[in-house]
Amino acid sequence: MKKILLGMSTADLKLLAAELGEKEFRGKQVADWLYRHGCREISGMANLPVAFKSKLEAVYEIGRSQLQKNNMGKDGTFKLLLRPYYGELVETVGMPYDERFSCCVSTQIGCPVGCAFCATGSGGFKRNLAAGEMIDQVLTVAEVAIKEKLLAPDGRVSHVVFMGMGEPLLNYEATLAAVRLINHELKIGMRNITISTIGYVPGIYRLAADRLQLTLAVSLHAADDALRRKLVPGMSRYLLKDILSACQHYYSHTGRRVTFEYCLLKGVNDSQAEAASLASLLKGLNCHVNLIPFNEVLHSNFRCPEPAGVMAFRRVMEEAGITVTQREQRGAGIQAGCGQLRRQPGSG
Ligand code: SAH
Ligand code: SF4
Repeated sequence: MKKILLGMSTADLKLLAAELGEKEFRGKQVADWLYRHGCREISGMANLPVAFKSKLEAVYEIGRSQLQKNNMGKDGTFKLLLRPYYGELVETVGMPYDERFSCCVSTQIGCPVGCAFCATGSGGFKRNLAAGEMIDQVLTVAEVAIKEKLLAPDGRVSHVVFMGMGEPLLNYEATLAAVRLINHELKIGMRNITISTIGYVPGIYRLAADRLQLTLAVSLHAADDALRRKLVPGMSRYLLKDILSACQHYYSHTGRRVTFEYCLLKGVNDSQAEAASLASLLKGLNCHVNLIPFNEVLHSNFRCPEPAGVMAFRRVMEEAGITVTQREQRGAGIQAGCGQLRRQPGSG
């Protein structure tokens, strides 16, 4: 198997050009083909000398995925099933809004955490994705969005959320390499990039030390440790107080307000008493809570609360002074909502 160019930065590509006996600016040209034009074949890099292209082709391939399936939802949200360069299958989601266009990126194939309510976790863990395979998802989503006229021909993805399959902080190096590429090469602002973690405490400290201006979202789902252990068994080593201390540390190191995600499960974690406990747990933290009404997944006994239940939960938190938003249920009709991504083909 050849090495892949996707995942290399402009600086890496300049070094590579020099190693192959070319002027450095040729590396910048390669970067433009990869990241600005979304070129799929080295032979298509029109302004490069033929001899340079042959040298590159001898050792490298671009490393784009193959599109296996596109599921288009009514609200313009679409879910792509891709075969990444190093194999297996992965899902990624494109979401058009009025003023922005978001791509939801997967960081692993499957997930080792195995949360009780999540389709990704129930399928087990296969492998980590490489940075190039993550940036490929953003490029492919942009390509499809332009083709489907959801983006103008010169339009671009404006926001990236690492909320697809997998736990980003358990694949730290590749995810951070992808974040830097998305920022430097695709010119998406750090503040428009969000990493969602299930609360992997060492990863939160590591991210704080990197002092990036991205948004950190932490999935809590429970206001007490006993319930959290049931819902998120794969992280039972970390208590809520440890997760919250890590978030406080993250805030003091980066100045970035943390978002807490809370998936509402009917009769499990959605009572007003639980809303009050959650509010008191978060009191004094500079944060914001994003409520995610449960998206139905196959073979699950969990249910989504009625809208009135969601409202009541929200009101208790707001009365306690916590800022709350509610995630729009995008893509649920095509199984592209939070927690509905799987690695089996045709399961959507
Ligand atoms: N592994 C990371 C990121 C991917 S999941 C994490 O867990 O944070 C993105 C969000 O969707 C998380 O908050 C996750 O808990 C939530 N989620 C998972 N399954 C869900 C479901 N069936 N319905 C609604 N949200 C779900
Ligand atoms: Fe993994 Fe996140 Fe799903 Fe949990 S919710 S199984 S951490 S992808």
